[in-house]
Amino acid sequence: MIQSRRDALRTLGRTGLAVATGSVLAVTLESQATAAQSEWRWCRYCKQLWFRDYAFYACPGRPGLGHSKDGSGNYSVLFATDPGNGTIDWRYCRFCKTLWFAKEPNGPSSCPAISGGLGQHSIVGSGNYKVEFASSGGGQPGWRLCNLCKALWFYDGNFGTGRGVCSFGIAFGTNRTHSGESGTNYQVRLV
Ligand SMILES: [Zn+2]
Ligand SMILES: [Zn+2]
Ligand SMILES: [Zn+2]
Repeated sequence: MIQSRRDALRTLGRTGLAVATGSVLAVTLESQATAAQSEWRWCRYCKQLWFRDYAFYACPGRPGLGHSKDGSGNYSVLFATDPGNGTIDWRYCRFCKTLWFAKEPNGPSSCPAISGGLGQHSIVGSGNYKVEFASSGGGQPGWRLCNLCKALWFYDGNFGTGRGVCSFGIAFGTNRTHSGESGTNYQVRLV
C-alpha cells in the first residue's frame, strides 16, 4: 500500500502544475515526504547503480564507454528525508552517473570518469539519498557498498564472476573487482 501511494505521488509530481492548482501547498509537502526518484539502472558490466544519462568513460567495466541498462529493471532510490531504515549520505556523481557513498565527500573514492579512476567522485548537484537495509523488505536485496571505489553495486552471490569491475582496482593495480560483498546487505526497490 505504501508503494502504490508513493507511485501516485510520483505521478502527481510529474504533472504537478496541471493538477495541483488550489492545493499546491499540500502536494508540495506530501511530495517531499515520499519523493523517491526512479530511472536508476543496474549496469551489467560494472554491476553499479547509475542514473539515466549515458556518459562516455563512466563505466569501469567498459573502458571508454558508458554504463549499459540492458537487462536492468527501473529502480527507485529514496531521498534522505524519505521514510525507511537505511543509511543516508549517498550521492549521485555527475561524472560517472553512479550512486556512491559520500559520508566523507573528500575521503578516498574512485571515479572511473576521472583519469581512469585516479580521481574522486563528485557530490556537486546531487541530492542526499538514502539506501535501505535489506532487512526492511520490499526491495531487491544484495546491493553492497564497495569500500574501495565507494559505489553501490549488486552482488549476485557468485564470488568468481559476480563482483563486477572496480575503477579503484584498475587505477591502483589492486583487485579489479568490487569489494564489500560480505558487508551490509542493502536493498533497492524496483518501480
Ligand atoms: Zn557500468
Ligand atoms: Zn564518479
Ligand atoms: Zn569498487
